[in-house]
Amino acid sequence: MVDVNRTAYRTCPLCEAACGLEIGVAGDTVTAVRGDRDHVFSHGFICPKGATFGQLSGDADRLRRPLVRRDGQHVEVSWDEAFAVIEAGLRPIVEAHGGQAVAAYLGNPNVHTMAGGLYITPLLKALGTRNVFSASTVDQMPKHVSCGYLFGSPLAIPVPDLDRTDFLLMLGANPWESNGSLATAADFPGRLKAIQARGGRFVVVDPRRTRTAEHADEHLFIRPGTDAFLLFGIVHTLFAEGLVDPGRLTAYAQGVDDLQGLAVDFAPEAVAGICDVPAERVRGLARELAAAPTAAVYGRIGTCTVEFGTLTSWLVDVINVLTGNLDRPGGVMFPLGAHLRPAAKPGGKGFTTGRWRSRVRGLPEVKGELPVATLADEIETPGEGQVRAFLTVAGNPVLSAPNSGRLDRALAGLDFMVSVDPYLNETTRHADVILPPMDATQKGHYDFSFLALAVRNFAAYSPPIFPADPGGMDEVDILARLILIVTGQGAGADPAVLHERMLAQALQKAGLAEASGDGPAERLLDVALRSGAYGLSLNDLIAAPHGVDLGPLRPRIPEVLRTPSGLIELCAPPLVEEVARLRAALDRPRPGLVLIGRRHLRSNNSWMHNVPALVKGRSRCTLQVHPLDADRLTLADGMAAAVSSRAGSLAATVEVTDRVMPGVVSLPHGWGHDRPGTRMAVAAEHAGVNSNILTDELIVDPLSGNAVLNGIPVEVKPA
Ligand code: SF4
Repeated sequence: MVDVNRTAYRTCPLCEAACGLEIGVAGDTVTAVRGDRDHVFSHGFICPKGATFGQLSGDADRLRRPLVRRDGQHVEVSWDEAFAVIEAGLRPIVEAHGGQAVAAYLGNPNVHTMAGGLYITPLLKALGTRNVFSASTVDQMPKHVSCGYLFGSPLAIPVPDLDRTDFLLMLGANPWESNGSLATAADFPGRLKAIQARGGRFVVVDPRRTRTAEHADEHLFIRPGTDAFLLFGIVHTLFAEGLVDPGRLTAYAQGVDDLQGLAVDFAPEAVAGICDVPAERVRGLARELAAAPTAAVYGRIGTCTVEFGTLTSWLVDVINVLTGNLDRPGGVMFPLGAHLRPAAKPGGKGFTTGRWRSRVRGLPEVKGELPVATLADEIETPGEGQVRAFLTVAGNPVLSAPNSGRLDRALAGLDFMVSVDPYLNETTRHADVILPPMDATQKGHYDFSFLALAVRNFAAYSPPIFPADPGGMDEVDILARLILIVTGQGAGADPAVLHERMLAQALQKAGLAEASGDGPAERLLDVALRSGAYGLSLNDLIAAPHGVDLGPLRPRIPEVLRTPSGLIELCAPPLVEEVARLRAALDRPRPGLVLIGRRHLRSNNSWMHNVPALVKGRSRCTLQVHPLDADRLTLADGMAAAVSSRAGSLAATVEVTDRVMPGVVSLPHGWGHDRPGTRMAVAAEHAGVNSNILTDELIVDPLSGNAVLNGIPVEVKPA
């Protein structure tokens, strides 16, 4: 029986910031949501998305029972029937064409659930396919690759020590809207203001004057996709002016001298015209980074979704090393989540890519997956290994993948498709079966991903607020039943069998006899916590509804280094080879008009466009055009513009603004809710246009396979 009129505390699962929420509950209804003032990490901060937490759960369009497509219509069926249809649909394809005929796509909500953190890896292993795709290759794969080469592990990602830094240089990041990414920092804006309040500075480099840029001490416009040139200009200056000083890292870094040679051709004067950042300002940034008592360089999505994404991500941390700011308080540091255990000593196998290649374009595997930019190729191209069946888990690639119009058509040609998703959306409308997990109020929460990226070490577990819907299914059971089907144990197999097996393996590995927790995910979490860095347990976290503070970030070098040498390897050969390509691009002609994306505080990709409070008001899906370009192209505010690229064309409403630099137009991503066959009434009323109709699947960052979503050449004219 549910208590009436109570208060529940939980971590917000809607973005990477991991804020604590205080939730008013009456009976089986969420009545109020506000920031948890006693939360050890967020101290009461909340954003508009978090405030709608209960509304997502109550959304009338949210699926609560499985759907199966019959005669072109999705109809509700029982869980047993849905799994039987999946078994009947998948098995003949695998028997006739092998395991590679099945592809999987994982959307980024997977890193916001315990099921995603614990059951996706076993599912992929069970599928045995090399055709694994995810949102990582439209987002952050370059950071994984650069950290893999530098530190030996793609998950060893240093975050800016926001609470202690004196100087922060941010590129391609807009945390005033996003609240941070690959750096979990509840109230990121407040932490930036605190830098200024204690006499520090933060500088934003971005082709748009974002809200973050407005609050910065300085904003520098930069041509989209040219951050690597700017950063190399800084590296060049550090060497040229004798400012290189890795400090304590000197003993742990190899390749500093080689870097000097690599930077020779990237003098500030050589890069200034490419970036549109004056040479003297490039020098100035280098001097400020070197002179600041502590400094951090932080690059985010705008530095990843570009042609030289991996080089850019690498240079961010190269500068952090050269200025002695990696792994020291106030610089960039490696968090240590409570579910993780530090290694006994440095060194390891290191990082590599290309263990296999995509069948059609020969693109290298990275971190066990292939670039989503080539997913349509793998579905459309006949031959051995062609993808004929597709599984999506919490993903909407029809909106998020480059040249999504092509992918949309490709999905329509599949033999069989299954989606684990709470919505009948632009992607899942192609599915033969849709399996909706229970909503966030009915399941526990622990951030396996983000507590390993937090700017202060802390831990928090949130128990379910409401009892499970008796007719619903927890995501761990959905994923377990899929695993049992693909491993031949049948649609009717009991998921408890798999849960018990996974727990037994975890206990054995940890040397423990038993685990506590109400559900299978909780018991696995308990094992991870008890064998983790701080010796916590699930019960410790349950007893601390506002979280457990584990203190400021602490230095982790050399223990965190997993390179074969046990050192920071600054000049891995693939990066050095890629520098040659960047050098050649110094002489490229400047492109004409280019397209970039943008983020809004009330949006997180395509997830929350069916929540009225988050889409109300003036349409945000506008094409921002600089006044000089608007004059030249005879465009005016409110007009419809025809925008075209190699990949496709669309019409968008013009917003004339000097927030974008001349030569750049901007459309937000995650929109385009006008596809037939979806069931998201609110989103359909605020459809907007899909920016990925314009992005080009043929261009990727070659080292990471990441899609290029920024700096797309476009033509714009009155519609
Ligand atoms: S910033 Fe993110 S975690 Fe915090 S309330 Fe908003 S959506 Fe939730």
